[in-house]
Amino acid sequence: MHFSICLFTLLAGLLPAALAVVLADPTLMINGVTFPTRAHWMRQANEALSEISGSPCPFAAFGTVIVNHTASDTGELICMGVNENSKTGNPSLHGEMSAIKNCTAILTDPHGKYRMTASEAEDAFADLTLYTNAESCPMCASAIRWAGFREYVYGTSIDTLIQKGWGQIRMPSIQIFEASFDLPTQSRLMGNILINETDPYFLWQYDPTYPCPHGCSRTSDGTSCEASFL
Ligand SMILES: [Zn+2]
Repeated sequence: MHFSICLFTLLAGLLPAALAVVLADPTLMINGVTFPTRAHWMRQANEALSEISGSPCPFAAFGTVIVNHTASDTGELICMGVNENSKTGNPSLHGEMSAIKNCTAILTDPHGKYRMTASEAEDAFADLTLYTNAESCPMCASAIRWAGFREYVYGTSIDTLIQKGWGQIRMPSIQIFEASFDLPTQSRLMGNILINETDPYFLWQYDPTYPCPHGCSRTSDGTSCEASFL
């Protein structure tokens, strides 16, 4: 009896913590969307860097695309965003926040494709999937939960960012998701998608020996990467 109680206490204390860090295999077909489709959109999150910043290797290489998979499994691009801290002076404009801002503008544009009211735009996020090439910080993960996204998909993990020299708030997205059960919507979390392609965007900044992302080369002093065509 005593042993059973001890075992139960042990499991109650350890099991939830252990399960909390388990993520689904990134190659699985979740919510009807295949891995090749997930990979396509994660590549688009990387491509957003060139599309918006004009370089495949900005220092803050955080790119996001927001996609609607509910109309078709392959998905429809609604908007994209990249980190705009240095461009705007607004420290909250991480890639995910920029993308959410851009999507709201597109969804509510009175001359655009969607022409939604503010209320309709708020509700629309429940059908959308946010792809980010690196795991969101707690600010962005919270914004994703407040927005009520259907799905949240990230590439490179916060653990990798920290290991490779990035200053990060050490709280994984899954903790934000665990703590947000009072919110009216649920959101599926998928991580470590296509990290063989997302990681290289974040491994060169603090390691002068690491190759620059495709399309970029080391600056003459070797301390940074720049677009090769510059
Ligand atoms: Zn963030």
